[in-house]
Amino acid sequence: MAHLGADVAAYVDGQLSETAMQAATRHLGTCDECAKAVRQQALLKSRMSTVATPAPPPRLLESLAGLASATPVRETWWERVCRSVPFRAGLVVVGASVAVIVAAYAVGSPDGTTGDTVVPPYDRYAADFSGATTVDASNTISDATMSQLDGSGWPCLATLAGDLRRTSGSYVDHHETVALSYSNGDAKLNLYEQTGVLDHDSLDGFKAAKMGSALVWIRDGVPMLVTWDDDGVVYTIATNADRGRIARAVAELPKGAYRQGPVGRVGDGLSRMTSWVNAA
Ligand SMILES: [Zn+2]
Repeated sequence: MAHLGADVAAYVDGQLSETAMQAATRHLGTCDECAKAVRQQALLKSRMSTVATPAPPPRLLESLAGLASATPVRETWWERVCRSVPFRAGLVVVGASVAVIVAAYAVGSPDGTTGDTVVPPYDRYAADFSGATTVDASNTISDATMSQLDGSGWPCLATLAGDLRRTSGSYVDHHETVALSYSNGDAKLNLYEQTGVLDHDSLDGFKAAKMGSALVWIRDGVPMLVTWDDDGVVYTIATNADRGRIARAVAELPKGAYRQGPVGRVGDGLSRMTSWVNAA
């Protein structure tokens, strides 16, 4: 049969005729596109009804608490998010930073060439490395949420370069950047991930270098700063680890692994958000 199209809502509401219902169910078994539409519709319905609502995942909500008031400041990508109808639905549903940040990834430039150029605050990252700032508790990202981000194009690996273990994760810079800290008790590595394309004009003091198969920009010092972009996400590392270990960490992070068309990214992002909520 043809795609469900406008019948998606009726299907979810159980308002199709028995025959149509059976045909639709058969179709859903073979059509990812319609199955995704049904999941989204079911999600919308469950979150928008005021009675008999299934309980949302408490840990997800917990991790989102206090974050929903964040106001996006970079209008350019935000406007793109708002124009994206599937994401408008997703944002209504989830309405918080995870949705925003996943959306930011999903609508980011697929080829890494047309996104907003960004200048990571290198000096502040260096100062943060020395312990100058503490993270506001409300900006902490729970382990569960990091797992979700990790599946949505924001690598939040539990370990890097062998024995560097993730010690914390938080949102910084108006919730537009994911900041992760790693340590093995000796070496320490902070990793920042934000959407955009690296502004090459801002790299004074950096030198281009090859690390494994990756082209990165390095600023020597303590901490050493390493930055690069891939597929619409800018990665910046601040670390006192030795160069060999940094190279291993870089090799474990994306340099094209997440490449995919924008439509697929939006769909994947939404279906992941849907599955988190449905899994509760
Ligand atoms: Zn279909």
